[in-house]
Amino acid sequence: MNKPHLMSMDDALAAVLAQAARVDQADSVNTFDADGRVLWADAVSELQVPPMDNSAMDGYAVRCVDITGAGVPLPVSQRIAAGQVGAPLAAGTAARIFTGAPVPEGADAIVMQEDTEAVDGGVRINAIPKSEQWIRRAGEDIARGSTILRAGTRLNPAALGLLASIGLAEVQVARRPRVALFSTGDELVMPGAIAPADMPPGSIYNSNRFFLRALLTRLGCEVHDCGIVPDNREATIRVMQEAAADNDLILSTAGVSVGEEDHVKPAVEQLGELDLWKISMKPGKPFAFGSVRRAAGGSAHFMGLPGNPVSSFVTFLMLVRPFLLRLQGVQNVAPRALHVKAAFDLPKADARREFLRVRLNEEGALELFGNQSSGVLTSAVWGDGLVDNPAMTTVKQGDVVRFIPMSELLQ
Ligand code: AMP
Ligand code: MG
Repeated sequence: MNKPHLMSMDDALAAVLAQAARVDQADSVNTFDADGRVLWADAVSELQVPPMDNSAMDGYAVRCVDITGAGVPLPVSQRIAAGQVGAPLAAGTAARIFTGAPVPEGADAIVMQEDTEAVDGGVRINAIPKSEQWIRRAGEDIARGSTILRAGTRLNPAALGLLASIGLAEVQVARRPRVALFSTGDELVMPGAIAPADMPPGSIYNSNRFFLRALLTRLGCEVHDCGIVPDNREATIRVMQEAAADNDLILSTAGVSVGEEDHVKPAVEQLGELDLWKISMKPGKPFAFGSVRRAAGGSAHFMGLPGNPVSSFVTFLMLVRPFLLRLQGVQNVAPRALHVKAAFDLPKADARREFLRVRLNEEGALELFGNQSSGVLTSAVWGDGLVDNPAMTTVKQGDVVRFIPMSELLQ
């Protein structure tokens, strides 16, 4: 029998994203609580920031024409603290001013305190100022009427500050995608249910459930954890039907191969539609994508990840993560990669595109984790990121490879 044709990961991703229509609703949330959420509409500023010309230093506001040479003494005509508004600056005088205070009309430079000396009734200016120095101009950060953040921007801490700087106490963000998560496999035991010493032969702890739940939460999803579903058709169908009713996505692990104990495929085929792909990626390969009909009309998306923990982890990062970001309206969902030197050899080329678990060493080059098996979850914890190595490609020490930092994938 011929080997089945493998689908490229890029084709799989394109097919997945083609189905990722943005969620139908926005949530109005307090700006404090909007970290990690995706902006629903452009944020347009009703005001300019800073709102007025202000001082960037503690010092003295002056007119440059009055400073005829270093060491000129000037009387101090007023004092302007942040939050106050001064009078126009009288010619031939200086105004004591503090950082953030409005620059008085007529002043065209700030002399920092360190370049001055207090003298009787005034101040000596010891450095000749350049026009405009230490003045932050009105609107230099944000112009009135400008779009500061576009719809589809995933908000980070700096973005929350920027939204606050234009006076937004509340923002409209895409509602959280609702994701039903379940694991299949009769070998699985929940940590806590049976002590390690008492684990029956053949059983293993359910580790996928833990990292998937955390990944989903980081991506802004509301997780509905359906636990472990026994390896039989009826139980699988029941969970799917219930989950479809009020979730955007049903995400399962394991049981998507074509073994006799793999019940996910027939269940989804009965309840909706399913494509089962063999993707040219390692770890990874089996990946199921489809939909489950809702009794009330419409359907929920379905994604079935492989059971092996590292396969499950990597396929999530490469296919599910972009899908969930797109559901929230993010356009650019590709993780950013860096070009970094390899400090390892990969003498044997693989027919599949590989995602190798690697770590940056002190020289800034990449070390390879020794055991790249899809069952060895230690590699994913040890690694700082993944090398995206094209199919049929060997690596020699010193080669520049495509490195996707974990920090990029996990946020
Ligand atoms: P399967 O996709 O069902 O053939 O499973 C592939 C491998 O992944 C088997 O060794 C399973 O025991 C293991 N596996 C499946 N689900 C999980 C899980 N939730 N946590 C840890 N290992 C799992
Ligand atoms: Mg199984």
